[in-house]
Amino acid sequence: MLLHFLGATRTVTGSMYLLEPPQGPKLLLEAGLFQGRRAETYARNRQVGFDPAQIPYVILSHAHIDHCGNLPTLYRLGFRGHVFCTPATRDLASILLRDSAHLQEKDVEFVNRRRARRGEPPVEPLYRLEDAEAVLEHFVAVPYNRPFSPDPAFTFTFRDAGHILGSAHVVLEVRRRGGPVRIGFSGDLGRYGMPILRDPQPMPEVDYLLLESTYGGQSHEPIEGARARLAEAIMRTAARGGKVLIPAFSVGRTQEILYDLNQLFREGALPEIPVFLDSPLAIDATAIYKAHPDCFDRETRQLLHRDPDPFGFANLQYVVDAEASKRLNDLRLPAIIIAASGMMEGGRILHHLRQHIGDHRTTILIVGFCAEHTLCRRLVEGQKEVNIFGEPFRVRAEVVTIPAYSAHADHEELLRWSAPLITGRLKTIFLVHGEYSRQQALAEALRTRGARRVEIPEWRQTYTI
Ligand SMILES: [Zn+2]
Repeated sequence: MLLHFLGATRTVTGSMYLLEPPQGPKLLLEAGLFQGRRAETYARNRQVGFDPAQIPYVILSHAHIDHCGNLPTLYRLGFRGHVFCTPATRDLASILLRDSAHLQEKDVEFVNRRRARRGEPPVEPLYRLEDAEAVLEHFVAVPYNRPFSPDPAFTFTFRDAGHILGSAHVVLEVRRRGGPVRIGFSGDLGRYGMPILRDPQPMPEVDYLLLESTYGGQSHEPIEGARARLAEAIMRTAARGGKVLIPAFSVGRTQEILYDLNQLFREGALPEIPVFLDSPLAIDATAIYKAHPDCFDRETRQLLHRDPDPFGFANLQYVVDAEASKRLNDLRLPAIIIAASGMMEGGRILHHLRQHIGDHRTTILIVGFCAEHTLCRRLVEGQKEVNIFGEPFRVRAEVVTIPAYSAHADHEELLRWSAPLITGRLKTIFLVHGEYSRQQALAEALRTRGARRVEIPEWRQTYTI
Protein backbone atom coordinates (compact mmCIF):
# COMPACT_ATOMS: atom_id res chain seq x y z
CA MET A 1 0.00 0.00 0.00
CA LEU A 2 1.27 3.49 -0.82
CA LEU A 3 1.21 6.47 1.53
CA HIS A 4 1.70 9.84 -0.18
CA PHE A 5 2.63 12.93 1.84
CA LEU A 6 0.98 15.81 -0.01
CA GLY A 7 1.09 18.62 2.56
CA ALA A 8 2.15 19.81 6.05
CA THR A 9 5.54 18.23 5.37
CA ARG A 10 8.30 20.11 7.19
CA THR A 11 5.80 22.94 7.63
CA VAL A 12 2.54 23.54 9.52
CA THR A 13 -0.08 24.20 6.84
CA GLY A 14 -1.77 22.25 4.05
CA SER A 15 -2.22 18.89 5.85
CA MET A 16 -3.00 16.21 3.27
CA TYR A 17 -2.05 12.52 3.08
CA LEU A 18 -3.27 9.99 0.53
CA LEU A 19 -3.49 6.30 1.19
CA GLU A 20 -3.52 4.09 -1.87
CA PRO A 21 -4.11 0.37 -1.24
CA PRO A 22 -3.41 -2.10 -4.08
CA GLN A 23 -7.10 -3.05 -4.07
CA GLY A 24 -9.98 -1.10 -2.64
CA PRO A 25 -10.70 2.61 -2.57
CA LYS A 26 -8.22 5.46 -2.11
CA LEU A 27 -8.52 7.35 1.14
CA LEU A 28 -7.56 10.95 1.76
CA LEU A 29 -6.65 12.08 5.27
CA GLU A 30 -7.27 15.85 5.55
CA ALA A 31 -7.53 18.42 2.77
CA GLY A 32 -5.91 21.44 4.37
CA LEU A 33 -5.25 24.82 2.86
CA PHE A 34 -1.60 25.65 2.30
CA GLN A 35 -0.94 29.19 3.52
CA GLY A 36 2.09 31.07 2.24
CA ARG A 37 2.95 33.74 -0.31
CA ARG A 38 0.06 34.49 -2.68
CA ALA A 39 1.39 33.06 -6.00
CA GLU A 40 2.86 29.92 -4.44
CA THR A 41 -0.26 29.43 -2.32
CA TYR A 42 -2.60 29.47 -5.31
CA ALA A 43 -0.54 27.01 -7.37
CA ARG A 44 0.03 24.64 -4.49
CA ASN A 45 -3.60 24.54 -3.40
CA ARG A 46 -4.84 24.09 -6.96
CA GLN A 47 -2.39 21.38 -8.05
CA VAL A 48 -3.22 18.77 -5.47
CA GLY A 49 -1.18 15.93 -7.02
CA PHE A 50 -4.04 13.46 -7.66
CA ASP A 51 -7.44 13.36 -9.35
CA PRO A 52 -10.06 14.33 -6.73
CA ALA A 53 -12.79 12.64 -8.81
CA GLN A 54 -11.10 9.30 -8.01
CA ILE A 55 -11.32 9.81 -4.22
CA PRO A 56 -14.44 8.28 -2.64
CA TYR A 57 -13.54 9.04 1.00
CA VAL A 58 -11.93 11.84 3.00
CA ILE A 59 -11.33 11.57 6.75
CA LEU A 60 -11.01 14.87 8.58
CA SER A 61 -9.43 15.31 12.03
CA HIS A 62 -10.73 18.81 12.84
CA ALA A 63 -12.09 22.04 11.41
CA HIS A 64 -9.03 24.29 11.33
CA ILE A 65 -8.55 25.66 7.82
CA ASP A 66 -5.04 24.21 7.49
CA HIS A 67 -6.73 20.79 7.80
CA CYS A 68 -9.99 21.18 5.85
CA GLY A 69 -9.69 24.48 3.93
CA ASN A 70 -8.89 22.94 0.54
CA LEU A 71 -11.99 20.74 0.39
CA PRO A 72 -13.89 23.27 -1.79
CA THR A 73 -10.98 23.13 -4.28
CA LEU A 74 -11.32 19.35 -4.40
CA TYR A 75 -15.02 19.82 -5.11
CA ARG A 76 -14.19 22.22 -7.94
CA LEU A 77 -11.84 19.60 -9.35
CA GLY A 78 -14.48 16.86 -9.37
CA PHE A 79 -14.56 15.37 -5.84
CA ARG A 80 -18.03 13.95 -5.08
CA GLY A 81 -17.21 11.46 -2.30
CA HIS A 82 -17.90 11.45 1.46
CA VAL A 83 -16.11 13.57 4.07
CA PHE A 84 -16.13 11.92 7.49
CA CYS A 85 -15.64 13.99 10.64
CA THR A 86 -17.17 14.40 14.10
CA PRO A 87 -20.49 16.29 14.46
CA ALA A 88 -18.81 19.35 16.05
CA THR A 89 -16.18 19.43 13.31
CA ARG A 90 -18.92 19.44 10.68
CA ASP A 91 -20.62 22.41 12.39
CA LEU A 92 -17.39 24.38 12.78
CA ALA A 93 -16.29 23.57 9.21
CA SER A 94 -19.58 24.92 7.94
CA ILE A 95 -18.73 28.42 9.23
CA LEU A 96 -14.97 28.24 8.62
CA LEU A 97 -15.22 27.05 4.99
CA ARG A 98 -17.76 29.76 4.19
CA ASP A 99 -15.51 32.35 5.80
CA SER A 100 -12.50 31.00 3.87
CA ALA A 101 -14.43 31.23 0.58
CA HIS A 102 -15.31 34.83 1.40
CA LEU A 103 -11.62 35.61 2.03
CA GLN A 104 -10.62 33.92 -1.26
CA GLU A 105 -13.17 35.98 -3.19
CA LYS A 106 -12.08 39.23 -1.45
CA ASP A 107 -8.43 38.53 -2.11
CA VAL A 108 -9.05 37.99 -5.81
CA GLU A 109 -11.06 41.22 -6.05
CA PHE A 110 -7.98 43.04 -4.76
CA VAL A 111 -5.65 41.19 -7.18
CA ASN A 112 -7.99 41.79 -10.12
CA ARG A 113 -8.19 45.54 -9.46
CA ARG A 114 -4.40 45.62 -9.73
CA ARG A 115 -4.43 43.42 -12.85
CA ALA A 116 -7.05 45.64 -14.50
CA ARG A 117 -4.80 48.67 -14.00
CA ARG A 118 -2.05 46.80 -15.83
CA GLY A 119 -4.43 45.71 -18.61
CA GLU A 120 -4.21 42.04 -17.54
CA PRO A 121 -7.23 39.67 -17.62
CA PRO A 122 -8.91 38.85 -14.28
CA VAL A 123 -8.09 35.63 -12.40
CA GLU A 124 -10.50 33.27 -10.65
CA PRO A 125 -10.49 32.74 -6.88
CA LEU A 126 -9.21 29.39 -5.62
CA TYR A 127 -12.86 28.67 -4.81
CA ARG A 128 -16.13 30.47 -4.23
CA LEU A 129 -18.85 30.34 -1.58
CA GLU A 130 -20.90 27.97 -3.77
CA ASP A 131 -18.01 25.44 -3.81
CA ALA A 132 -17.74 25.58 -0.01
CA GLU A 133 -21.50 25.13 0.38
CA ALA A 134 -21.54 22.27 -2.14
CA VAL A 135 -18.76 20.31 -0.47
CA LEU A 136 -20.40 20.72 2.94
CA GLU A 137 -23.30 18.61 1.63
CA HIS A 138 -20.84 15.72 1.35
CA PHE A 139 -20.01 15.76 5.08
CA VAL A 140 -20.98 12.73 7.15
CA ALA A 141 -20.80 13.09 10.94
CA VAL A 142 -19.38 10.14 12.89
CA PRO A 143 -19.22 10.34 16.71
CA TYR A 144 -16.16 9.65 18.87
CA ASN A 145 -15.30 6.05 19.79
CA ARG A 146 -17.70 4.41 17.32
CA PRO A 147 -15.79 2.24 14.81
CA PHE A 148 -17.21 3.05 11.38
CA SER A 149 -16.82 1.00 8.23
CA PRO A 150 -18.21 2.74 5.15
CA ASP A 151 -16.48 0.22 2.89
CA PRO A 152 -15.50 -3.45 3.37
CA ALA A 153 -11.88 -2.38 2.79
CA PHE A 154 -11.46 -0.36 6.00
CA THR A 155 -12.75 0.73 9.40
CA PHE A 156 -11.87 3.94 11.23
CA THR A 157 -12.48 5.34 14.70
CA PHE A 158 -12.35 8.95 15.89
CA ARG A 159 -10.96 9.54 19.36
CA ASP A 160 -10.79 12.85 21.21
CA ALA A 161 -7.63 14.85 20.46
CA GLY A 162 -8.46 17.68 22.94
CA HIS A 163 -7.25 20.37 20.50
CA ILE A 164 -10.40 22.30 19.54
CA LEU A 165 -14.10 21.42 19.75
CA GLY A 166 -14.71 18.19 17.81
CA SER A 167 -11.02 17.53 17.13
CA ALA A 168 -10.08 13.89 16.72
CA HIS A 169 -7.22 11.58 16.20
CA VAL A 170 -7.91 8.70 13.90
CA VAL A 171 -7.25 4.97 14.03
CA LEU A 172 -7.65 3.42 10.61
CA GLU A 173 -7.66 -0.30 9.97
CA VAL A 174 -7.14 -1.32 6.35
CA ARG A 175 -7.92 -4.91 5.46
CA ARG A 176 -5.55 -6.59 3.06
CA ARG A 177 -4.11 -10.01 2.22
CA GLY A 178 -1.83 -11.11 5.04
CA GLY A 179 -3.91 -9.40 7.73
CA PRO A 180 -5.11 -5.89 8.52
CA VAL A 181 -2.75 -2.96 8.94
CA ARG A 182 -3.46 -0.28 11.49
CA ILE A 183 -2.53 3.35 10.83
CA GLY A 184 -2.82 6.06 13.46
CA PHE A 185 -3.06 9.77 12.71
CA SER A 186 -2.66 12.18 15.63
CA GLY A 187 -4.39 15.14 13.93
CA ASP A 188 -3.45 18.15 16.06
CA LEU A 189 -3.06 17.16 19.70
CA GLY A 190 -4.24 19.40 22.50
CA ARG A 191 -2.73 19.99 25.94
CA TYR A 192 -3.49 18.03 29.08
CA GLY A 193 -5.45 19.81 31.80
CA MET A 194 -6.84 22.61 29.62
CA PRO A 195 -10.25 24.08 30.48
CA ILE A 196 -13.40 23.16 28.51
CA LEU A 197 -12.20 20.17 26.46
CA ARG A 198 -11.20 16.69 27.53
CA ASP A 199 -7.56 15.61 27.57
CA PRO A 200 -6.31 13.80 24.47
CA GLN A 201 -7.47 10.16 24.60
CA PRO A 202 -4.76 7.51 24.33
CA MET A 203 -4.37 5.78 21.00
CA PRO A 204 -4.54 1.97 20.78
CA GLU A 205 -1.58 0.13 19.27
CA VAL A 206 -0.90 0.83 15.61
CA ASP A 207 1.60 -0.31 12.96
CA TYR A 208 2.25 3.16 11.57
CA LEU A 209 1.77 6.55 13.18
CA LEU A 210 1.52 10.00 11.58
CA LEU A 211 2.40 12.35 14.44
CA GLU A 212 2.12 16.15 14.51
CA SER A 213 5.24 17.98 15.67
CA THR A 214 4.31 21.68 15.91
CA TYR A 215 6.06 22.19 19.27
CA GLY A 216 8.78 19.51 19.06
CA GLY A 217 11.68 20.60 21.29
CA GLN A 218 9.63 23.40 22.93
CA SER A 219 7.76 23.52 26.19
CA HIS A 220 4.80 25.65 27.27
CA GLU A 221 4.39 27.04 30.76
CA PRO A 222 1.84 25.16 32.90
CA ILE A 223 -1.78 26.11 32.30
CA GLU A 224 -2.47 26.58 36.03
CA GLY A 225 -1.00 30.08 36.11
CA ALA A 226 -2.66 31.37 32.93
CA ARG A 227 -5.94 32.56 34.45
CA ALA A 228 -4.14 34.47 37.22
CA ARG A 229 -1.85 36.17 34.69
CA LEU A 230 -4.86 37.11 32.59
CA ALA A 231 -6.48 38.69 35.67
CA GLU A 232 -3.29 40.58 36.62
CA ALA A 233 -2.92 42.09 33.16
CA ILE A 234 -6.56 43.20 33.14
CA MET A 235 -6.35 44.71 36.66
CA ARG A 236 -3.20 46.64 35.80
CA THR A 237 -4.73 48.02 32.61
CA ALA A 238 -8.04 48.92 34.25
CA ALA A 239 -6.18 50.77 37.03
CA ARG A 240 -4.55 53.07 34.50
CA GLY A 241 -7.83 53.50 32.58
CA GLY A 242 -6.72 51.65 29.44
CA LYS A 243 -8.09 49.00 27.15
CA VAL A 244 -7.01 45.38 26.93
CA LEU A 245 -6.83 44.25 23.30
CA ILE A 246 -6.82 40.49 22.83
CA PRO A 247 -6.09 39.32 19.30
CA ALA A 248 -7.51 35.82 19.27
CA PHE A 249 -8.17 32.92 16.92
CA SER A 250 -11.93 32.71 16.42
CA VAL A 251 -12.15 28.99 17.15
CA GLY A 252 -10.66 27.69 20.37
CA ARG A 253 -8.66 30.51 21.89
CA THR A 254 -11.57 32.96 21.97
CA GLN A 255 -13.76 30.45 23.83
CA GLU A 256 -10.98 29.66 26.32
CA ILE A 257 -10.56 33.36 27.10
CA LEU A 258 -14.34 33.86 27.46
CA TYR A 259 -14.49 30.82 29.75
CA ASP A 260 -11.70 32.14 31.97
CA LEU A 261 -13.17 35.66 32.02
CA ASN A 262 -16.54 34.20 33.04
CA GLN A 263 -14.85 32.34 35.91
CA LEU A 264 -12.96 35.44 37.02
CA PHE A 265 -16.08 37.62 37.00
CA ARG A 266 -18.05 34.94 38.87
CA GLU A 267 -15.33 34.74 41.53
CA GLY A 268 -15.37 38.54 41.83
CA ALA A 269 -11.69 38.60 40.90
CA LEU A 270 -12.21 41.34 38.31
CA PRO A 271 -14.13 44.63 38.28
CA GLU A 272 -17.16 44.47 35.98
CA ILE A 273 -15.58 46.27 33.03
CA PRO A 274 -17.22 45.81 29.62
CA VAL A 275 -15.97 43.01 27.36
CA PHE A 276 -16.58 43.18 23.62
CA LEU A 277 -16.36 40.13 21.38
CA ASP A 278 -15.73 41.97 18.14
CA SER A 279 -15.71 39.15 15.58
CA PRO A 280 -18.75 37.70 13.78
CA LEU A 281 -16.85 34.47 13.12
CA ALA A 282 -15.87 34.07 16.79
CA ILE A 283 -19.49 34.79 17.82
CA ASP A 284 -20.71 32.01 15.49
CA ALA A 285 -17.98 29.64 16.71
CA THR A 286 -18.98 30.34 20.33
CA ALA A 287 -22.59 29.40 19.50
CA ILE A 288 -21.30 26.08 18.11
CA TYR A 289 -19.27 25.48 21.29
CA LYS A 290 -22.44 26.03 23.33
CA ALA A 291 -24.32 23.55 21.13
CA HIS A 292 -21.84 20.74 21.86
CA PRO A 293 -21.63 20.21 25.63
CA ASP A 294 -21.07 16.53 24.75
CA CYS A 295 -17.50 17.56 23.85
CA PHE A 296 -16.79 19.25 27.22
CA ASP A 297 -14.69 17.79 30.02
CA ARG A 298 -16.28 16.72 33.33
CA GLU A 299 -15.46 19.99 35.10
CA THR A 300 -17.15 22.10 32.42
CA ARG A 301 -20.20 19.80 32.27
CA GLN A 302 -20.56 20.12 36.05
CA LEU A 303 -20.25 23.88 35.77
CA LEU A 304 -23.26 23.83 33.40
CA HIS A 305 -25.48 22.84 36.38
CA ARG A 306 -24.60 26.11 38.14
CA ASP A 307 -24.02 28.30 35.08
CA PRO A 308 -25.80 27.34 31.87
CA ASP A 309 -23.58 29.61 29.78
CA PRO A 310 -19.87 29.16 30.57
CA PHE A 311 -18.90 31.50 27.69
CA GLY A 312 -21.24 34.37 28.59
CA PHE A 313 -21.62 36.94 31.37
CA ALA A 314 -23.64 40.10 31.98
CA ASN A 315 -20.92 42.54 30.86
CA LEU A 316 -20.13 40.70 27.60
CA GLN A 317 -21.36 42.30 24.39
CA TYR A 318 -21.26 40.82 20.89
CA VAL A 319 -20.25 43.26 18.16
CA VAL A 320 -21.53 42.03 14.81
CA ASP A 321 -21.56 44.93 12.36
CA ALA A 322 -18.51 46.89 11.31
CA GLU A 323 -20.00 50.30 12.24
CA ALA A 324 -20.51 49.19 15.84
CA SER A 325 -16.93 47.98 15.85
CA LYS A 326 -15.70 51.42 14.77
CA ARG A 327 -17.77 53.06 17.52
CA LEU A 328 -15.67 51.20 20.10
CA ASN A 329 -12.90 53.69 19.24
CA ASP A 330 -14.84 56.45 20.99
CA LEU A 331 -15.22 54.49 24.20
CA ARG A 332 -13.38 56.24 27.04
CA LEU A 333 -13.81 53.60 29.75
CA PRO A 334 -11.48 50.71 30.48
CA ALA A 335 -12.63 47.74 28.42
CA ILE A 336 -11.56 44.40 27.03
CA ILE A 337 -11.80 43.90 23.27
CA ILE A 338 -11.37 40.44 21.75
CA ALA A 339 -10.99 40.51 17.97
CA ALA A 340 -9.47 38.49 15.14
CA SER A 341 -7.06 37.77 13.68
CA GLY A 342 -4.85 36.00 16.19
CA MET A 343 -1.60 36.85 14.44
CA MET A 344 -2.76 40.42 13.70
CA GLU A 345 -2.34 39.96 9.96
CA GLY A 346 -5.86 41.16 9.19
CA GLY A 347 -9.30 41.56 10.72
CA ARG A 348 -10.81 44.12 13.07
CA ILE A 349 -8.01 43.90 15.62
CA LEU A 350 -5.87 46.05 13.30
CA HIS A 351 -8.29 48.97 13.59
CA HIS A 352 -8.18 48.78 17.38
CA LEU A 353 -4.40 48.52 17.38
CA ARG A 354 -4.05 51.55 15.15
CA GLN A 355 -6.16 53.52 17.58
CA HIS A 356 -4.54 52.35 20.83
CA ILE A 357 -1.04 50.98 20.25
CA GLY A 358 0.52 54.41 20.87
CA ASP A 359 -1.26 54.80 24.23
CA HIS A 360 0.75 53.70 27.27
CA ARG A 361 -2.47 52.75 29.11
CA THR A 362 -3.27 50.01 26.56
CA THR A 363 -2.34 46.35 26.98
CA ILE A 364 -1.97 44.02 24.00
CA LEU A 365 -2.49 40.53 25.34
CA ILE A 366 -1.08 37.81 23.09
CA VAL A 367 -2.46 34.34 23.79
CA GLY A 368 -1.68 32.47 20.57
CA PHE A 369 0.98 31.19 18.23
CA CYS A 370 2.84 33.93 16.29
CA ALA A 371 4.40 32.87 13.00
CA GLU A 372 7.51 34.59 11.69
CA HIS A 373 7.09 37.87 9.79
CA THR A 374 3.72 38.68 11.41
CA LEU A 375 2.84 41.80 13.39
CA CYS A 376 2.19 39.48 16.31
CA ARG A 377 5.78 38.18 16.22
CA ARG A 378 7.21 41.73 15.96
CA LEU A 379 5.32 42.82 19.08
CA VAL A 380 6.38 39.70 21.01
CA GLU A 381 9.98 40.45 20.04
CA GLY A 382 9.59 43.91 21.55
CA GLN A 383 9.88 46.09 18.44
CA LYS A 384 9.21 49.71 19.30
CA GLU A 385 7.86 50.79 15.94
CA VAL A 386 5.57 48.69 13.75
CA ASN A 387 3.59 49.18 10.53
CA ILE A 388 -0.19 48.88 10.51
CA PHE A 389 -1.93 49.32 7.13
CA GLY A 390 1.42 50.51 5.78
CA GLU A 391 1.72 53.36 8.33
CA PRO A 392 4.38 53.42 11.08
CA PHE A 393 3.20 53.49 14.73
CA ARG A 394 5.19 53.81 17.96
CA VAL A 395 4.48 51.00 20.40
CA ARG A 396 3.73 52.56 23.78
CA ALA A 397 1.23 49.89 24.83
CA GLU A 398 2.27 47.16 27.22
CA VAL A 399 2.67 43.81 25.46
CA VAL A 400 1.85 40.74 27.57
CA THR A 401 2.12 37.16 26.30
CA ILE A 402 0.49 34.14 27.94
CA PRO A 403 1.68 31.20 25.82
CA ALA A 404 0.08 28.65 28.16
CA TYR A 405 -3.18 29.17 26.23
CA SER A 406 -1.74 27.12 23.36
CA ALA A 407 -4.09 24.66 21.66
CA HIS A 408 -1.16 22.37 20.85
CA ALA A 409 0.65 19.82 22.97
CA ASP A 410 4.27 20.78 23.71
CA HIS A 411 7.32 18.52 23.39
CA GLU A 412 6.75 16.64 26.66
CA GLU A 413 3.03 16.26 26.00
CA LEU A 414 3.69 14.84 22.50
CA LEU A 415 6.06 12.31 24.08
CA ARG A 416 3.63 11.52 26.89
CA TRP A 417 0.90 10.76 24.35
CA SER A 418 3.05 8.71 21.95
CA ALA A 419 5.19 6.85 24.55
CA PRO A 420 2.77 3.92 25.09
CA LEU A 421 2.75 3.27 21.33
CA ILE A 422 6.52 3.13 20.88
CA THR A 423 7.04 -0.10 22.78
CA GLY A 424 4.29 -1.97 20.91
CA ARG A 425 3.94 -3.15 17.34
CA LEU A 426 4.73 0.27 15.91
CA LYS A 427 7.03 0.03 12.89
CA THR A 428 7.41 3.65 11.76
CA ILE A 429 6.54 7.11 13.01
CA PHE A 430 6.11 9.75 10.29
CA LEU A 431 6.46 13.28 11.63
CA VAL A 432 4.18 15.82 10.00
CA HIS A 433 2.82 19.32 10.73
CA GLY A 434 5.96 20.98 12.07
CA GLU A 435 8.94 23.09 11.00
CA TYR A 436 11.93 20.90 10.17
CA SER A 437 14.02 21.92 13.21
CA ARG A 438 11.09 21.10 15.54
CA GLN A 439 10.67 17.74 13.84
CA GLN A 440 14.35 16.91 14.26
CA ALA A 441 14.16 17.66 17.98
CA LEU A 442 11.11 15.45 18.38
CA ALA A 443 12.58 12.65 16.22
CA GLU A 444 15.70 12.61 18.39
CA ALA A 445 13.63 12.30 21.58
CA LEU A 446 11.45 9.54 20.10
CA ARG A 447 14.52 7.55 19.05
CA THR A 448 16.00 7.96 22.52
CA ARG A 449 12.80 6.48 23.93
CA GLY A 450 13.11 3.42 21.68
CA ALA A 451 11.18 4.28 18.50
CA ARG A 452 12.36 1.86 15.83
CA ARG A 453 12.10 4.17 12.84
CA VAL A 454 11.22 7.87 12.67
CA GLU A 455 10.80 9.50 9.27
CA ILE A 456 10.43 13.18 8.37
CA PRO A 457 8.76 13.02 4.95
CA GLU A 458 9.37 15.65 2.32
CA TRP A 459 6.64 17.21 0.19
CA ARG A 460 5.16 14.63 -2.20
CA GLN A 461 7.31 11.82 -0.83
CA THR A 462 5.72 8.37 -1.10
CA TYR A 463 6.31 5.42 1.21
CA THR A 464 5.33 1.79 0.73
CA ILE A 465 3.85 0.45 3.95
ZN1 LIG B 1 -5.47 22.68 14.47
